[in-house]
Amino acid sequence: MRFFEDEDFRVLTALEMAMRNHDVAPTALVERIAQLPRGGCRKRLQDLLKRKFIHHENTAYDGYSMKYAAYDFLALRALSKRGTVTGAGSRIGCGKESDIILVQDENGNDCVMKLQRLGRCSFRSVSRNRDYKGNGKTRRGESWFYLSRLAAQKEFAFMKMLYDEGFPVPKPIDHNRHVVVMELVKGTLLNHIQDMAGHEHKVYERCLALMVRLAEHGLIHGDFNEFNIMITDDFRVIMIDFPQMVSTDHRNAVELFDRDVQNLANFFSRRFRVETLLHPSLEKDVERTAALDRQAFASGFFTKKQQMELEAMLEEEVDKEEDEEDEEDETNDDTQEATTETSVAVKSRHEDPAKEAVKEDNAGDEEDGGEEDDT
Ligand code: ADP
Ligand code: MG
Repeated sequence: MRFFEDEDFRVLTALEMAMRNHDVAPTALVERIAQLPRGGCRKRLQDLLKRKFIHHENTAYDGYSMKYAAYDFLALRALSKRGTVTGAGSRIGCGKESDIILVQDENGNDCVMKLQRLGRCSFRSVSRNRDYKGNGKTRRGESWFYLSRLAAQKEFAFMKMLYDEGFPVPKPIDHNRHVVVMELVKGTLLNHIQDMAGHEHKVYERCLALMVRLAEHGLIHGDFNEFNIMITDDFRVIMIDFPQMVSTDHRNAVELFDRDVQNLANFFSRRFRVETLLHPSLEKDVERTAALDRQAFASGFFTKKQQMELEAMLEEEVDKEEDEEDEEDETNDDTQEATTETSVAVKSRHEDPAKEAVKEDNAGDEEDGGEEDDT
């Protein structure tokens, strides 16, 4: 960020705004919004292009689009202006759908910044599928940027609500665009633990109890497995990663809950030889006592409509993954890794960064304001 000047920021903000209504923002429109002295905007754009923050296209017309790097910069700048992030350190995790970076808050304490990267791993199928080709958008027309922002917004909203209710989740700190800043969990990812020194039964029960308590509050994690559960030194269970969380009123709630229970049972049996006869079911063993699901949507921070968009998108992602994996099975066995049955949060496949140049049609934190257009 040190190499960015105010004018770069101004040009990128203009580009972000222009992209609300354009897949590729016409250069003239960006210039008009940025309002830099003569020629200044074009020069900045060319410079940002050279530094690989943006994409240039000159097919139908002369225009630019953002890459994730530019979007990261805008989010990071907003967070640092607010003082919630004062320094960035190393990358501590790289999931299928996110980058996890260690950052410092205003007091110099370590915390975690999660940058959503929805769509990053789907570009192979994107390029295979005509409907998806070219413009970085899904079939229904949402851009990957927009969906990454939705996912972050949802994660922050749910994390806050769960934290306030006393659930064991990281403390949410701040959110901007596709980025969530949260407490650094001092623990080990369950998947990284090979030996629980006699505590495995207790930990397994705590995981199940957490799942049931969550369902009693109206929620199902939807990806509650060894990749999204952290264990502290004193064997407490902390859950992370909730963009796919659904309500217990969801049409597939029973199966989703059952899948989480089954995946966890399989893992504990495989890894720690913990066999259990306990298989809580949503219908028989869960009595709803609260409605965090409804509360989340009622807060307005993450609406039902947004939830539906995100759900549809995530389902599409999983379908595509499965198709892709079927094809991969036939062609290449070397790429196989250990996965859970859900196989959602496991693989890290990096694609050509240039292909990450997808756009956002709905920038910033605010709701669709649409205040900028080219009319
Ligand atoms: P993804 O959606 O890519 O699966 P996650 O939220 O599961 O992203 O994070 C990926 C990895 O980063 C986790 O498996 C965990 O190892 C690490 N991680 C995420 N959040 C935290 C946190 N708050 N504290 C410590 N480590 C974290
Ligand atoms: Mg995860």
